[in-house]
Amino acid sequence: MCMSGTADARIAGAGRYAPSPSGELHFGNLRTALISWLVARSHSLPFYMRVEDVDTQRSSLESAAQQLEDLQRIGLDWDGEVLYQHQRFPAYEHVVESLRARGLVYECYCSRKDIAHAASAPHAIPGHYPGTCRDLSDAQRQAKREELEATGRHPALRLRSDATSGTVQDYWAGNYRGDVDDFVLRRGGQAPDWAYNLAVVVDDHHQQVGHVVRGDDLLPSAPRQAYLARLLGYEVPLYVHVPLVLNEQGRRLAKRDGAVTLHQMEQHSSTADVIQALGESLGVVGARSTAEILEHWDMDQLPRTAVTFRG
Ligand code: GLU
Repeated sequence: MCMSGTADARIAGAGRYAPSPSGELHFGNLRTALISWLVARSHSLPFYMRVEDVDTQRSSLESAAQQLEDLQRIGLDWDGEVLYQHQRFPAYEHVVESLRARGLVYECYCSRKDIAHAASAPHAIPGHYPGTCRDLSDAQRQAKREELEATGRHPALRLRSDATSGTVQDYWAGNYRGDVDDFVLRRGGQAPDWAYNLAVVVDDHHQQVGHVVRGDDLLPSAPRQAYLARLLGYEVPLYVHVPLVLNEQGRRLAKRDGAVTLHQMEQHSSTADVIQALGESLGVVGARSTAEILEHWDMDQLPRTAVTFRG
């Protein structure tokens, strides 16, 4: 196989793509998936697929099946079985129990409104959980828990962090510093789902992921995830946050923009045309298959700014 560009030694461990199955993938998602695959395959590293269906209300197996089929149709392959997060709940529970045993977990009874209100206080750090439930007494907790449970809701579980910010290494953004706070490990309310920030860290470790390629809307979450990984004694992956695809109005491409899913695009183009458009958005002209894109792509030639989708 001819690999253009230089293999970067920092790209190590496995790669992965981790879609949330709450609808069809659009051109921007397919492009991020393709980049994840290209980065792993051009470094001869394993590439895994993980269905991030922690959000039990919004996820469906039908949607997961459709997404996997679309990814295969554009020519992506992956190693081993697909990992479904709904099968990983005992692992998340185990990790949270281990943190709880270290005194690093507390229940939070706040509603969104409570948080918004407390966060507007003069000394609150913008975007941080204001710590309302962090230091409650046992009696206060008991009272708040009973009050909440009487309405059929569960408390959230939060991490007791001792940082307000943290850094990660990103392939393009370099040393990136962002917020760390007492973020949620398990969501509250009627459906106490495990939180994305917990599941992603536990599963990246489980799958021995060494480099995380994903949309740059998630860059601000990376310091929280790295903080948790370090607490758990996990190695922190190298991040490769990719600029998002925008619509013609300059906003993040979304399904409501129309003609953006593979099925929709295939109404007026062939699958190979779609693959060619994906390749061209990465700076590879004229390739009709993902294997051909792999042959000619150069990670360092990838456009560093957001790409505009013109259907
Ligand atoms: N499941 C997330 C999404 O579909 C991606 C999370 C990640 O790659 O860390 O946007």
